[in-house]
Amino acid sequence: MPFSDFIGNVETVQRLREMLGRGHFPPAVILAGAEGAGKYTLAVMLAQAMNCQERRVPKAEKSEQSLFGAALFGDGSVEDSAEGTSKSDELPDFCGHCANCRRIALAADLDARFAEAVEVRENLRETDKKETRIFVQTHPDVLVIPPDPPQMMIKVDQVRHVIRNIYFRPAEGREKVYIFTSSAFMKEAANSLLKVLEEPPEFATIFLLTTNPGELLPTIRSRAMTFTLGALAPAEIEKQLAKQRPDWDARQRALVARLSEGAMGRALTWDLQAYVAARAQALVLLKSALGKGDHSELFKATESFRPGPEGWKKMDELLRTLYLLLEDIMFLQSGTPHLVRNTDIAGELRKMAEAADFGWVKRAAAGLGEVERGLRRNLLRSLSLDSFVAALEPTA
Ligand SMILES: [Zn+2]
Repeated sequence: MPFSDFIGNVETVQRLREMLGRGHFPPAVILAGAEGAGKYTLAVMLAQAMNCQERRVPKAEKSEQSLFGAALFGDGSVEDSAEGTSKSDELPDFCGHCANCRRIALAADLDARFAEAVEVRENLRETDKKETRIFVQTHPDVLVIPPDPPQMMIKVDQVRHVIRNIYFRPAEGREKVYIFTSSAFMKEAANSLLKVLEEPPEFATIFLLTTNPGELLPTIRSRAMTFTLGALAPAEIEKQLAKQRPDWDARQRALVARLSEGAMGRALTWDLQAYVAARAQALVLLKSALGKGDHSELFKATESFRPGPEGWKKMDELLRTLYLLLEDIMFLQSGTPHLVRNTDIAGELRKMAEAADFGWVKRAAAGLGEVERGLRRNLLRSLSLDSFVAALEPTA
């Protein structure tokens, strides 16, 4: 799986590869971007490129490394794959099949590896459990540091583990790689990380992944180089979905491409079935609110919401879908139909846009805000939905 498999953000990927090719890769890199933008995928690919056994290493990178190694550890060992036919204008890549590439690739499915690590900890004795932090490691030189449950924060013990580990030369690769998958650091953890960033070893790279760089300490940001993965155009996502989700038809692919807000990862893992189910209910609510009198459909819809985590999740999906539909109706009313996301039901939305005036849509959006606040105060969910709809009924 070489870099050509990374979809979009071509210039950013190229710049990172150029720096790698010149042997001047920064010791700390912030990869910023929305959920599902590909930050983790790219970090894992770079870790592979740094350690691929088939890759020819340019002289600059090699001499810096061995010099540093000699100074610190008296180890003058030099990689021998560097000599010979390397083409200097060729961007570094990775083969995907050497032992290093394959083992690092095992970390690519972060959710699965994370779940395994959590399960291992769950099975420990109570005393050990407290002291064990979650890591994902499929190669001795590549360590993935996810937020530690249940708080889902990066904790100081995780950073301490990195500090204990980072100053030893790589065991089987050329470069040690540390990937922090979230910028939600506990205060003490952030301060400890800062110490590493002040004096990073030459043979290590730290990736900090974040949806919001502002969450990181300014002193951390100033010691790292930031790259942002931007949103992809819907057409680009549709093209990729055609290859990877042949189970979806063209209308479904067009819909998901617009709903995923330019994030490839979100598009590929989109729960279309759940979305369509939530949307069907949202449509019932809106139509009921637009019409007069008979609310039996509405009661059927709201009755299905039961308390408990399952009910909360459904309610959350319903509210998000309601907002999306209201926005789409507004796009239609304001003459910007190309911005509509729910393209597969455009006809239905157009009818609603004609039936409702702009003031109604505004009231509906405000009413949804009320429902959300009501939910946070823990009101009975069906009750607050019913009153939302009742408040929107045409008064005449
Ligand atoms: Zn390889």
